Amino acid sequence: MKPLETMISRRVFLTNSSKVTLAVSLAGTGVLSAYAGEATGKEIGFRTRFTQTPLAFDFDALEPNIDAMTMEIHYTKHAAGYAKNLGEAVSEEQVDANKPLEDVLSKIGSYSTKMRNNAGGHYNHELFWKVMSPTGKGKPEGDLAAAIDSSFGSYDAFVTEFETAAKTRFGSGWAWLVVGDDKKLAVGSTANQDNPLMDISEFKGIPLLGLDVWEHAYYLNYQNKRPDYVSAFWNLVDWNYVAQRFATASL
Ligand code: MN
Repeated sequence: MKPLETMISRRVFLTNSSKVTLAVSLAGTGVLSAYAGEATGKEIGFRTRFTQTPLAFDFDALEPNIDAMTMEIHYTKHAAGYAKNLGEAVSEEQVDANKPLEDVLSKIGSYSTKMRNNAGGHYNHELFWKVMSPTGKGKPEGDLAAAIDSSFGSYDAFVTEFETAAKTRFGSGWAWLVVGDDKKLAVGSTANQDNPLMDISEFKGIPLLGLDVWEHAYYLNYQNKRPDYVSAFWNLVDWNYVAQRFATASL
């Protein structure tokens, strides 16, 4: 079966069984279970697999904030490419793919550029698909809301800081909300497909929220208007999922 046909079949499947698929994807992605980092024994994040997780929603489900064609190309071409090339790098560099991808990221400086670009690209997109939801929107609540107030002054101040990070990242990259070793939240950005789990990253922490600001993420609909795409992102953020990540990372 050609890839496009596979995707069409999968979309029909998703439409027919979205609730089941959502339940399976939540149970299968380690959303609810942290893992202990091998080196430190410390809870450092979530077990991300080396292959693509099915989207929990249809390609058109995020419209009008992100259009269906952008989502389809982004997931089936760009993100799929990172996963495929990661698979090659894993094979070439004898990585144990039974271990979490996070382990590789934490020592990415000792691997190839191919591993760095594609391990980062795969991890970042796997996270990106999960922090967005057709029923997102809203604002953080509970402990996460309190941590945002404590770290940034207010939710609005956090939004301004995050948007600035997203808008001022020159060229391609990502904007992040992370929690650091000190349990404080921080906002920053990374270039290309780097991320804050990488040993070589200047900006470090456990990612809670990530926004793709590569042009492929928005150009079909927003063209050069990255700030409009960044503003629209707030209509999609699944704060319940972000709060789960925060709770797990804070254990
Ligand atoms: Mn992307």
